[in-house]
Amino acid sequence: LIFSGHLLLADSGRCFVEPGVLRIEEGRIAEIQLGEIATRPDVGGNLCLIAPGFVDTHLHLPQFDCIGSHGSPLLDWLDAVVLPTESRWVDSTLAQAKTERAIHRMLRSGTTGFAAYATVHHHSAVAALELAQQRGVRAWIGQTLMDVPKDAPLRMETNRLLDETHRSLELFPSGGRVAAAITPRYALGCSEQLMKGCAKLAQETNALVQTHLAENVDECAAVFERFGKEYLEVYDSMGLVRSGTIFGHGIHLGEAAMMRLAESSSIVAHCPTANDFLNSGIMRREALTRAQVQISLGSDIGAGYEVSMVRVARAMIQAAVRLGTSFPDASEAFFAITSGNAQSLGWNDSGQLLEGAIADLVVIQPFENWLATTVDPLSQLLFSWNDCWIRSVWLRGRRVV
Ligand SMILES: [Zn+2]
Repeated sequence: LIFSGHLLLADSGRCFVEPGVLRIEEGRIAEIQLGEIATRPDVGGNLCLIAPGFVDTHLHLPQFDCIGSHGSPLLDWLDAVVLPTESRWVDSTLAQAKTERAIHRMLRSGTTGFAAYATVHHHSAVAALELAQQRGVRAWIGQTLMDVPKDAPLRMETNRLLDETHRSLELFPSGGRVAAAITPRYALGCSEQLMKGCAKLAQETNALVQTHLAENVDECAAVFERFGKEYLEVYDSMGLVRSGTIFGHGIHLGEAAMMRLAESSSIVAHCPTANDFLNSGIMRREALTRAQVQISLGSDIGAGYEVSMVRVARAMIQAAVRLGTSFPDASEAFFAITSGNAQSLGWNDSGQLLEGAIADLVVIQPFENWLATTVDPLSQLLFSWNDCWIRSVWLRGRRVV
C-alpha cells in the first residue's frame, strides 16, 4: 500500500512537513522516500498531510458521557457528576458499548493510541480492554482503584482491587498492543495499603502506572491534612514515584517536587482543557521544563471537553501564553501529540513516520493551498483545525475511518 503526500516528520522535539512516499507492509512502514509526491498513490495526494496517529496520555473512558457539566471545582464535580456516571459501569455490557463509542469518537479525531482510566468495576475494565483489542487501537487501560473512605460510592475492598488488577495484568500484559495499567485514582481515594500494593505490582510487571497529582488547591490541602505530607511525597513514600509513571495535571507543585519528578523520570500529563474547564489553575510548563520534567499531553475527557488532540495541543500553547512565560510553537505542539506522547507511554515504534514504525496513520486534507499561507502552515493548521479535514484513519495499515 502506497501513501503519498506531505509527510509530518519529527526531529529533536519538533515536527516539519516534507513531500514523500510511505510504503506499508504487514501493518508497518516498510520504506520511506522523501522529495516527491507519487503521481498515483493508493492513499493521499498533492493536497494531503499524512501524519502519525495522535496519542492521548490521559483520559477517562466512562466520562465521554459527562463532558460539559460546567461550573463546579474538582472535588464537587467528582461527587456530583463523575461518580453517578461511573457507577453505571457496574453493567459491563453498557461499559463495552460506551467504550466502543469513545474509541469511535477518538478515531474520528485522529487519536489512534491512548492511556485511559476505566472505573472501579473489574469486569467492565476487562470489557473495555477486550473492546480496545478488537478495534485495533493501541492502549493502556486501567481499572480505577479506590478503597477509601470506605462508605463513599465506588469504593471496594483493598485486597479485592489488588487481586483484580493482578488478574488484568495477566490477561493484558505490558508489551501487548492493548495492556492493563495500574491505576490508583488519586491519593484521597486510596489507602496506604492499596498504593503500596500498586507499587509492588508495578515493580513485578513493569506495567504503566497512572494517577492524578496536585490538580486543585483544595485537593492538595486535603491530601496534606490526611497524610501530613506534600502530594508527591505521599506517592513517593508509597513507591509510586518511578520511571514512566504518568501523573495527571501536576499544577500545584513546589521546586522539590519538580526535581523529584525529573530525577525519577516520571511524567506529568498536562491537561490544559480540563484545567481550564474546572478552573483548577495553569500548569507551569516553563518551570517544569526548566526542572527537566518530562511532560506529555492529555485530553482528560470528561473534565476536558476536546477529544481532538490537536485542539488540546492548541490549548497547551494558549495556557503557557496566559501565564506570560515562554510557550511552545505549532511544530512542538504537533510533536507533543505524536512522537512525544507515544514515547511517554513507552511506545518507541509509534507516533513517528519512520521505517519499521507501526502504520497507525491519519490522512488529512485541509483547505486548498494550505501550504501557501503567509504564516507557518503547521501553525495555521493547528489554530484553525477542523476534524472534518480528516479523510481516513489507519490502524496497523488497515483503514478504520
Ligand atoms: Zn483525570
